[in-house]
Amino acid sequence: MANQVILVNDQKMNEIMNNYHAAKVVRNAPGVIFAAKISDTTITAYKSGKVLFQGAGADREAARWGYTTQKPVASKSKSKGDLLPSNLAEQSVVGSDETGTGDFFGPVTVAACYVPTDKIELVRELGVKDSKQLTDDLMRQIAPDLKATLVHSVLTLGNVKYNEIQAAGNSQGKIKALLHNQALKHVLRKMNGEKPDYILVDQFAERGVYYNYLKAEPEIIRENLLLATKAEGIHLSVAAASIIARVAFLEEMDKMSKVAGITLPKGAGAKVDEIAARILLNKGEATLKTLTKWHFANAKKASAIANRKRL
Ligand code: MG
Repeated sequence: MANQVILVNDQKMNEIMNNYHAAKVVRNAPGVIFAAKISDTTITAYKSGKVLFQGAGADREAARWGYTTQKPVASKSKSKGDLLPSNLAEQSVVGSDETGTGDFFGPVTVAACYVPTDKIELVRELGVKDSKQLTDDLMRQIAPDLKATLVHSVLTLGNVKYNEIQAAGNSQGKIKALLHNQALKHVLRKMNGEKPDYILVDQFAERGVYYNYLKAEPEIIRENLLLATKAEGIHLSVAAASIIARVAFLEEMDKMSKVAGITLPKGAGAKVDEIAARILLNKGEATLKTLTKWHFANAKKASAIANRKRL
């Protein structure tokens, strides 16, 4: 489907709304100030001054109002992985991403969500961009809107379960693959038979390795599945999934901080060792273990710091 976006000033916006007034339709979506549908084109106007034209007549209608500002989402960032269709950014895509895998404290979370072509502009309007450009606070603000707007699934793997699975001999890569496959399955099920053009997974393993991790699964999502690194810059569905996953991680960290009685730091650096040592001294190893990915080197470092402090 053709898709054109133009950016207009207030005066032109009024002209556009007047022009399509007879074809006006109700669209209760965040940021939308006007919507209309003519025979071959849907017109959606946003508070920000953007107007989206979709459908067979999109180019023609957009051209009536002048300049186009459409830029492909795919950035210059070099992505590795599958050869991607050139118009992927405008397709209807289920995207998935994970977070928390490099953090000693906190869970691993994976989210998948469906962004069809006709919601791309809305999702952008809600503030989604490459999540590496967004702060945690901003993501906390955006995530509820995304969850209300998009078919999605978000999985939080707590550390008790994580440690169990890991200790049974499963690599972090396998854990990630299982969670991605699960989240994708949930989203596809919720789509009630509607099929996305593509599924795009933010890549963490080669295709063969990814499917090898899943080989014992009863249901493996394969159809139209693409793997690409830096996928959050390729399609907004992955950027949105990344935000949803990140906020689930932050919310779980908030809860765990309450249990620990101290704000748990992210990552796996020296600060993390310090705080872990303090929890070890105050609450004991069993409690620390429930809060952390126990196989990380931080566990031994924390224990060494705690032993020094005990002396
Ligand atoms: Mg990722």
